Amino acid sequence: CGIVGYVGPRPSEGILLSGLARLEYRGYDSAGVAVIDGDGTLGMRKRAGKLSVLRDDLARTPLPDGTTGIGHTRWATHGGPTDANAHPHLADEGRLAVIHNGIIENFSVLKAELEAEGASFASETDTEVAAQLLAREYHAHGDDLEAAFRATVRRLEGAFTLLAMHQDHPGLVVGARRNSPLVIGLGEGENFLGSDVAAFVEHTRNALAIGQDQIVSITPEGVRVTDFDGGEVEVEPFEVTWDA
Ligand code: GLU
Repeated sequence: CGIVGYVGPRPSEGILLSGLARLEYRGYDSAGVAVIDGDGTLGMRKRAGKLSVLRDDLARTPLPDGTTGIGHTRWATHGGPTDANAHPHLADEGRLAVIHNGIIENFSVLKAELEAEGASFASETDTEVAAQLLAREYHAHGDDLEAAFRATVRRLEGAFTLLAMHQDHPGLVVGARRNSPLVIGLGEGENFLGSDVAAFVEHTRNALAIGQDQIVSITPEGVRVTDFDGGEVEVEPFEVTWDA
């Protein structure tokens, strides 16, 4: 339902939580965050219920400080509103984290394919199928996250805003969109992704709108937008003018 991503020099957890708070108006039933710390360790926490449940949990048992992170508020479509079905979904033995808005229409075909190869699933969501498919493609593409992500989104049908990061690639968040929105926020030495500009407007008003069937990679130094085949595309910058 709500999506935020961050790469830069600052600890990301607070940025993710305040971005998610600004997306609360859209409604949700669960929330979660994942971060990658400087040593390349991925930490993840997700809880059914209000953002305050997640906040309290994080206050009691903190995650490591990570300057690369993704956050999600979920509006359940596939699988009830439980901790296990909340996002992020992990794959590749906890080293890869994925969040998703929308519905992957062909998830049952993909799930059967992955199960036939030995995959087992920790949730009932369509999203975890995308996470495990991405893990498989990651290994098939020599640990190239961007190539694996392109191969993955080409297999997905339906509506998705999808964000992923892998602990072997700190400082990189990849995103894609089809029939669901995704915008980039451009900062100084830091960059953001959001399902809408509310996710990052307190940090920057310089934004880029990603078009249908496009992929973005953000690092602290810059952003790169391509189509699903990897061809570079031009994106339209705009300034967020409303008061947030
Ligand atoms: N279909 C996904 C799920 O049920 C994503 C729902 C959403 O957009 O929040 O987990």
